[in-house]
Amino acid sequence: MKVVLENLTKRYPNRNRKIKEEVTAVDSFSFEIPDGKLIGLLGPSGCGKSTTLNMICGLERPTEGKIYFGDDDVTMLSPEHRGVGMVFQNYALYPHLTVMQNITFPLENLKGKDKLTKQQMKERALEAAKLVQIEEYMERRPSELSGGQQQRVAIARALVKTPRVLLLDEPLSNLDARLRLQTREEIKRIQRETGVTTIFVTHDQEEAMSISDMIVVMKKGAVQQIGKPQDVYDNPVNLFVAKFLGTPPINVFDGKVKDGKLYLGDSAVLSVEGVENQEVYVGIRPEGFILDDSGLLECKLINVEVSGRDTSIVSSHSAFIGTNIRSIIPAESKVDRDADSVKFNVKPFKTYIFSKETEERINCVLS
Ligand code: ADP
Ligand code: MG
Repeated sequence: MKVVLENLTKRYPNRNRKIKEEVTAVDSFSFEIPDGKLIGLLGPSGCGKSTTLNMICGLERPTEGKIYFGDDDVTMLSPEHRGVGMVFQNYALYPHLTVMQNITFPLENLKGKDKLTKQQMKERALEAAKLVQIEEYMERRPSELSGGQQQRVAIARALVKTPRVLLLDEPLSNLDARLRLQTREEIKRIQRETGVTTIFVTHDQEEAMSISDMIVVMKKGAVQQIGKPQDVYDNPVNLFVAKFLGTPPINVFDGKVKDGKLYLGDSAVLSVEGVENQEVYVGIRPEGFILDDSGLLECKLINVEVSGRDTSIVSSHSAFIGTNIRSIIPAESKVDRDADSVKFNVKPFKTYIFSKETEERINCVLS
């Protein structure tokens, strides 16, 4: 089922009653989510992710705009009539019910031709439980399950009515690191197996990048960029998106374009075409540095951290904005740990320049 958002907008009255101005939680969000895809809705806390999801599932009414499932306008439908499955961060299971009863719960109220017998409900619940691999625990209560198992029950409950759209709001946030990793792979598998159009909300860029077919990056209610994870990472439209994606994060320098050269402080590191002379922000991905004795960028060496897989060099430079530059180089590169300085060249396709005024990316040819 494709999901179409058309100028979706939500404004709330200000919580501080003395301020008349409304809070725009979501600002004319338009997007056509293709059928059967997993979309990651990504952004810092308070950027409007939950509000967007709640409008799609019907818990919140949009102030403006429309929502379509396929060709159906569902904007004004109540949640029960939309055919959505919803999973929240805190599982929201009924503590006094068994796993089986929790999963069959959404089926109890089906009426008319959709009404199921007790036996049919059990069969459907077992099917959903198998999909998330908790069928051994059907008689337990939520308190007798681990966090990861509880979240699987919540997912089974969301799937039991074979929803047209599956909505997950930070479903992994309450799990420890290892379970988070495992459960996110499970969610991807379940999504593939069921083919249900899924929207997955998270503030964790790595989580969104790893499982999404497409990501939507939001900031203060406004969509910044939509695309395949790798495309957004490789081609951020502005400084915010560049900084939000990637660990370690992109390194940002005060720079300038002067007569066809890109400078970081006083060091000319690349040639640049198609940009007028101006001061700019320069973002360089950690993997965009090449260790080179005759490199054009000389930095003060602070630390060398070995991970086994690769090596992280921590250094500083007067034009760097923030504390330290983090560059990642192949493990086989030789670094003199006792040296005072380290020299780099930078990869043009890992370097981005941004307007100081608007923080938008400046498109140009770097070499
Ligand atoms: P996220 O899920 O990305 O953390 P939310 O969608 O929960 O963000 O919130 C977006 C913005 O809307 C925030 O500034 C939040 O304070 C505000 N907001 C959310 N719900 C309400 C509400 N019921 N009344 C007033 N403001 C709200
Ligand atoms: Mg939220």
